[in-house]
Amino acid sequence: MSKYTLPDLEYDFGALEPHISGQIMQLHHDKHHAAYVKKANETLEKLDEARDKSDFTRIGGLEKALAFNLSGHVLHSLFWRNMTPKGGGRPKGELANAITRDFGSFDGFQKQITEVAGTIMGSGWGALVWDATSSRLMTVQIHDHHSHTVQGVVPLLVVDAWEHAWYLQYLNEKTKFFDAIWNLWNWDDVAARFASARALDLGLNGVTDRANGGDAKGAGKTRQAPQPPAGRA
Ligand code: MN
Repeated sequence: MSKYTLPDLEYDFGALEPHISGQIMQLHHDKHHAAYVKKANETLEKLDEARDKSDFTRIGGLEKALAFNLSGHVLHSLFWRNMTPKGGGRPKGELANAITRDFGSFDGFQKQITEVAGTIMGSGWGALVWDATSSRLMTVQIHDHHSHTVQGVVPLLVVDAWEHAWYLQYLNEKTKFFDAIWNLWNWDDVAARFASARALDLGLNGVTDRANGGDAKGAGKTRQAPQPPAGRA
């Protein structure tokens, strides 16, 4: 059976300084992320054991542990790739157009996702996602790693709002972390995820007026769904 594995970072732990300290990056990757990988694999093994023994008395707890740890693995793997030492600035091309279409402006998008991340009670994430149901970008506020999110969306850019992501450096001033991180976004990575996500077909025609040529925002304004990249099914 396949196992989840901890991916190496594509840059040194200290490469994101001064915005994120090397100490935070090393602990965050080598300890926190590694623990989610280990526990996701262990949980799948426990599910195998339960099935072998036909003993499903702990199935609820195991499913919760799987959702938490596997989602933690996925989100951290995304977060590392969403950042680059030479990041920042603004997206270009079709991603920029879609942000303007779905959030009104880049500034509006930046304010919205910063508020999404900054207002989480407890631990969680802010995320820019592609909603394959309605073919639009939206934000979601993920509690822990897996709660309060939406089915049928593909995460494109994620902001880790857990204390372990910023506390050692920013102490009680977490809003400074949420500002600093805009110097690190790898918009080429986000744009590539956007292009892939747009090709996803959930097979849910008829559950939004978008597919019928209507307009999700009301009469008079037509929002064209972006076309999937050529050559993709
Ligand atoms: Mn984290």
